[in-house]
Amino acid sequence: MTAATLLCAGFIRSTAAFTSTTTINRLALKQTTMATTRSSSITRSSRRGRVPDYMSKLFGGPPQKEEVDPGVVDGTDLRIVKYPHPALRAENAEITQEELKESDDIKNLAKDMLKVMYAAEGVGLAAPQVGVNKRLMVYNPSGDSKKWLEETILVNPQIIEYSDGKDTETEGCLSFPDMNGDVTRSKWIKVQAMNLKGKNMKKKYTGWEARIFQHEYDHLDGTVYIDRLTEDVRSTVQPRLDELVQEFGEGGEL
Ligand SMILES: [Zn+2]
Repeated sequence: MTAATLLCAGFIRSTAAFTSTTTINRLALKQTTMATTRSSSITRSSRRGRVPDYMSKLFGGPPQKEEVDPGVVDGTDLRIVKYPHPALRAENAEITQEELKESDDIKNLAKDMLKVMYAAEGVGLAAPQVGVNKRLMVYNPSGDSKKWLEETILVNPQIIEYSDGKDTETEGCLSFPDMNGDVTRSKWIKVQAMNLKGKNMKKKYTGWEARIFQHEYDHLDGTVYIDRLTEDVRSTVQPRLDELVQEFGEGGEL
């Protein structure tokens, strides 16, 4: 199966399921070797047409822009690390109450991560993706910085229950530019986490938000979405992965 058919298949499936066709991290593909991305489900790209209206209803307005690499984002010292950067595979430390209460470092990091995420046209970002190996994630299902009420910042999140039901959607990742692939995940999850004040919370996430959460949560365990591709899909993206290794080196780029 070629990349093209694969992506098309993903698009059709996503549409039929009435689920998001936007990728995590807004992954919109740029023109790439997988140029075929035309159907690409996922991307918020307008190149391949508007995202269906139902998505706006479900997710509060999916992004329509393309993924970009903003480099070092103004007002931050952060940039997104790319595969195969070792930070993507390193262990991520729990954030302590002291860290939250005795300085603003984590709060400032979360704010900066949101800035980077928006600059990259993403919908979610985990700390290891900016080279910080701590258990912190941020996301906004709308990908729209003006919709800041939809921003979520989670410290030390844990999944305490998974739905038996699964669905498959095409995902991408800002640390893997210009590629994507279908990933099967639980339809809903129950999560326990802390907020920036160190307060515990529990919440159930469904649909697009559950998918974003699970993608970002994987990053905190050193897992990336290519680990969840079927062998067939993985083989279709392997040439792009090889390119990324060449482009960013074995150590990736910070
Ligand atoms: Zn990712």
